[in-house]
Amino acid sequence: MSFASLGLMPALLGNLQRLNYQQPTAVQQKAIAPILAGKDVLAAAQTGTGKTAAFTLPVLQLLLTQGGKVTSNGVRTLVLVPTRELAEQVHESIRSYLDELPLRTAVAYGGVSINPQMMQLRRGVDVLVATPGRLLDLYQQNAVRFHQMQILVLDEADRMLDLGFAEELNALFSVMPNKRQTLLFSATFSGPIRTLAGNLLRDPIRIDVTPKHSAAETVKQYLLVVDKHNKTELLLHLLSSRKWGQVLVFVRTRKGAESLHKKLMAAQVTADAIHGDKTQPARLRALQDFKKGRIQVLVATDVAARGLDIEQLPHVVNFDLPTVAQDYVHRIGRTGRAGLSGEAISLVSADEIEKLIAIEELMGINLQRFDEPDFYAEHRLPETILGVGSIKKPKKLKKNKVAAVAGQIHLGDILSAESQPRVVAVRPAPRLAVPGRHKPKPSNAKPR
Ligand code: AMP
Repeated sequence: MSFASLGLMPALLGNLQRLNYQQPTAVQQKAIAPILAGKDVLAAAQTGTGKTAAFTLPVLQLLLTQGGKVTSNGVRTLVLVPTRELAEQVHESIRSYLDELPLRTAVAYGGVSINPQMMQLRRGVDVLVATPGRLLDLYQQNAVRFHQMQILVLDEADRMLDLGFAEELNALFSVMPNKRQTLLFSATFSGPIRTLAGNLLRDPIRIDVTPKHSAAETVKQYLLVVDKHNKTELLLHLLSSRKWGQVLVFVRTRKGAESLHKKLMAAQVTADAIHGDKTQPARLRALQDFKKGRIQVLVATDVAARGLDIEQLPHVVNFDLPTVAQDYVHRIGRTGRAGLSGEAISLVSADEIEKLIAIEELMGINLQRFDEPDFYAEHRLPETILGVGSIKKPKKLKKNKVAAVAGQIHLGDILSAESQPRVVAVRPAPRLAVPGRHKPKPSNAKPR
């Protein structure tokens, strides 16, 4: 299938050619024609699927061919996104698809001065990419008006709800014209997303290009069991012994990100951190440094990393497991993109057992576990069984037993003697029945 066969206009096709987009991706094949036909769309598609172009290309065409000139403070299309990073990224994509075509675009998000954004909106814009909080501020200060709005796009809607933007979104929806086209993109179709879609969309075309909760087949996932206090040392050890190139390391908290960043720098590893306490320029700089290969390790929290588009990233490390199981899927989606192989390695300590259970239940697999020689955990991670949860209480091994059991199973058994970093593919573990021994604990089993 070609882009031309989807009904895109020659000017846009020319821009796609310049970008060397040969063929539409699955979500583009399914979404572009219905959007051009004016339909509402509800699409499940993650970052990396080409979702931005899937909504941007037809939206730009509709704006170029339909509707009048935008008046002062007006906006014809609004793209709502959860984070500043994604706002910048989507805006950048829109500008590349638009190239020289005569539409005005702007981007607005919090954490930076509102005045330049107000100035930009004065003449009106055809497309505004914005985060909900800042957009509401702009609206309340009369910097933006919705009377000319033709199209509303919600990008990564699940994340907007996760981040607690429901109130701002409702306030915004209540002042938008009802007569409009609405496109909702989300990595998942959770209950709240279905409710949101039910309220906002009219007779939508449903598109699903994401195999539910599964990682790309090219991603090998596994756990290294480690005591909490040894995680930094283990990460440093992995960086040097496996001869890794660039690594994206996820941590749960801002404090954790800062602390790990400092420890990496102290160990002479070139690194930077992105998290919610960093200024926007600092975040963009870190991201650019990482993309350009100027730093080896980028430490990121889930919120800051959402929507990052980094090509050819072979290794993602979960320094700690995310609180929300769904974030695990987003995290490991940063590697193994576009058919390239990747590894997602989680450093898991015994206190994270509940988080692990939630992740395994969501993914429908037991993640394969390994011990790294010299880092054998004293606090053992309880075994887990799908649908059951953990089958043992975490127990602390006596010091002299550690040496005895260390080496029972470790990566060295599986990796060849060469220094090639390789790991066996993870296969879904069979659902084991444990008759009469352990009652299923549905509360553990549910993803949070
Ligand atoms: P997205 O899922 O929108 O974040 O896009 C992921 C990446 O794929 C971006 O770097 C896009 O530039 C790129 N991309 C999107 N559509 C295509 C296509 N049809 N051909 C080649 N690259 C694409």
